[in-house]
Order: sequence, then structure tokens, then C-alpha cells
Amino acid sequence: MMYDYLIVGAGLFGSIFAHEATARGKTCLVIDKRSHVGGNIYTEEVEGIQVHKYGAHIFHTSDQEIWDYINRFASFNHYVNAPVAIYGDELYNLPFNMNTFSKMWGIRTPWEAQKIIREQVAELHIGIPQNLEEQALSLVGTDIYEKLIKGYTEKQWGRPCRDLPAFIIKRLPMRFTFDNNYFNDRYQGIPIGGYTKIIDKLLQGSEVKLNTNYFDNASAYRDIAAKTVFTGMIDKFYQYQLGILEYRSLRFETELMACDNYQGNAVVNYTSREVPYTRVIEHKHFEFGCQPVSVITREYPSEWKRGDEPYYPINDDKNNSLCNQYKKMAESEKNIVFGGRLGAYQYYDMDKVIRAALETVKMEFGA
Ligand code: FAD
Ligand code: UDP
Repeated sequence: MMYDYLIVGAGLFGSIFAHEATARGKTCLVIDKRSHVGGNIYTEEVEGIQVHKYGAHIFHTSDQEIWDYINRFASFNHYVNAPVAIYGDELYNLPFNMNTFSKMWGIRTPWEAQKIIREQVAELHIGIPQNLEEQALSLVGTDIYEKLIKGYTEKQWGRPCRDLPAFIIKRLPMRFTFDNNYFNDRYQGIPIGGYTKIIDKLLQGSEVKLNTNYFDNASAYRDIAAKTVFTGMIDKFYQYQLGILEYRSLRFETELMACDNYQGNAVVNYTSREVPYTRVIEHKHFEFGCQPVSVITREYPSEWKRGDEPYYPINDDKNNSLCNQYKKMAESEKNIVFGGRLGAYQYYDMDKVIRAALETVKMEFGA
């Protein structure tokens, strides 16, 4: 055995584990099939702008311990996510709040908004919401659902809202105040200088091999270290023997713009079905950048098939139950630990990934 740990995946989960293991005197080899570290939080500098190569990444958490932990590796700016939604030629603030309601119905007070929503919901006679459509309709009523949720969600997930789990829409706050903050969390920001710097710091002390796919040489990798931490797809690890877990994929189209301010906001959502992309990100606004040019990225959702990048796990009942069967197989492994968004097949935000990685560290090394 050449190493104490082989870590498959130099994303956030793998890098945190590597950092904690090397801090305890363990030797780690970290491999990643991509040409860079960082996984989906990778940022790359273009014309002085930190470009989020795999879509907008805003750090937010209410977990004090995780906030203190990540601040050991970066300083965060005071960015607050306040996306704008475009539906046809109409423009609304997100998340759903008094600014949205006021624009939608020409009203001014919370009670007027509540009355309209209550009346719209009452007409629908929904009991306990059974899917995303019922959940959304019973929270915000028909107008908001039709203009700001239905089209966006169906193109994002590639299936009708009726066939999606309700929890997805509960990620968004809904409030009767004039507050456009997309998150309710206590802490929020963008790491100054980009996310890749955090990963570089976490990986100091580990050996890192890029452009290296575990599956190209799985049998050799099994013997290279006493233990493996695997952050790739759990179903692929088991050669899909129980079935295939479903994902949603994305295509990112990035463009350098010869203007200093393209859309006036970091995140603009396109909520109608006819526009093929869901979001346009203007990266410089994450950092209040003053560069003379700008970089934007259009995010196109796409169907996932084997071999494509698996960006979003589809955590409906069918997939969750298949994943539980894979997790049962994983429990009997003595020398392999699974983790991260793909290893755990969970729609995790970054703070949840850090929490899960630190829990894995605790299991391995004690408190
Ligand atoms: P990943 O980042 O996916 O890393 C896994 C790594 O393993 C990858 O680098 C991959 O190349 C490598 N790998 C996989 N298989 C193999 C193999 N066979 N051999 C070698 N290497 C392999 N979270 C937030 O908190 N805020 C946000 O605003 C936010 N926005 C997001 C936007 C998008 C579009 C997406 C997709 C996610 C977003 N997230 C956000 C979630 C965030 O990206 C994840 O929580 C985090 O990146 C997960 O880290 P990870 O290490 O688990 O996985
Ligand atoms: N959503 C929506 N309209 C929007 C933004 C989001 O209907 O303008 C829904 C959509 O179903 C999406 C979910 O809310 O999948 C969660 O949104 P979030 O921004 O948290 O998604 P992510 O950043 O993870 O892609």
C-alpha cells in the first residue's frame, strides 16, 4: 500500500477529507478525471473576473461551525444573492416577496398580496401537496406558479411539475416583506479571489493527479491505498448492477462581452418555457467588479445519459429507493467510504457537503 487514502474526486468533499486526513499525519493521493481541481465549485480568472465555470455558486449557511471552518480558507465578500426573473417582457424580483407581488398585481400591502394568494389557492382545492406542482400552487397561487415556476422548473428538470418531488420548491423562500435576499441563511458571500483558492489550500500536503479516471484502472487503484474515499457516482461504482440512477445535466455557454455591464445583476432567471436556457450569470457582479469588459454564462439544462456530466441528482421516490439499495451494498465495504453529491446521491449545497465531509472525518478518526 503506497498511501493511507486514495480520494477519488478533488471536489469540495474530497478536498476537505484530504485536508483533515493529512492534518492527522495520513498520506493521501487525490485523483480527478477533470483537468483541474475543485469539482463544480471551480473558478477560473478571465480578464480579472472570477468565472464560475460550472454555474453560479453562492456560499450560504446558518451553520456556525461550517461558516467558521470555511473562513479559515477564504475571506468572503458581502454579496447577497437577489436574482431577477424575466418572463416574456415582464421583469420580477426573486425570491417571491412583496416586490414580486407588487409588480404582479399592482398592490402595495402584505394583506392585499395574502388575500390574492389565498383566493387563488382556495379555488384549487388542494389537500396535502403530493408533488411540486401542488406544493407550489398551494404556496403562491396560480399567477406566480404559471409565470415564475412552471416553465423554469419543467425545463430545468425535463419533466412535468406533477412528476417532481415537492421539496425542490421549498428551497426558495417566500415572504411578505420587501426583501429580495434569495436565502434565509445567517451567513452568505463569495470567497474573494474565487473558490479554487480554497481547494488549493485544502489540498496542500496531498498528492494530486488530474486527468485520471478511477474507472480506467479500478483494480490497480483498489490496492494503492489502505482505504478509498469515493466521491464519484455510486451506481457507476457498482457497474449499475441494480439499475441506473437518474440525473439532470447542464450545458454552459460562456461569452466574453465587450461591455462593462451586460445585465445589471449577477443572476437573471428566464422563466418562460420558450427560452432554452434557465439562467444567465454575469460573473463580475459576484465581486462588484469594475473591469471594462464582462463575462456571461448561459445555463442550458439537458437530458442526462450515461457518459454525460451528472449535475443534479433527481431525488424522487424511485431514485431514492434505488440509491438506498446501493447504500446498503456500500455499508458492507470495509475499505471504501462514499461521499459528496454523487457518492451520496443528494442535492447538497456546499455547506451540507462540508458538514457531510466533516462527519465522515469524525467516523474515520474520531472527534
Ligand atoms: P463535485 O464538485 O461534483 O466533485 C466530484 C469530483 O469527482 C469532480 O471533480 C469529478 O470530476 C470527480 N470524479 C467523479 N468521478 C470520478 C472518477 N471516476 N474518477 C476521478 N474523478 C472523478 N451549492 C451552494 O451551496 N450554492 C450554490 O449557489 C450552488 N450552485 C450550484 C449550481 C450548479 C449549477 C450546481 C450543479 C451545483 C451548485 N451547488 C451550489 C452545489 C455544489 O456544486 C456542490 O454542493 C459541491 O460542488 C459538491 O461537491 P462534491 O465534492 O460533492 O462534488
Ligand atoms: N425555481 C423556479 N423559478 C425560478 C427559480 C427556481 O421555479 O426562477 C424552482 C425550480 O424548480 C428550481 C428550484 O426552484 O429547480 C430550486 O431553485 P434553486 O435556485 O435553489 O436551484 P439551483 O440553484 O440548485 O439550480
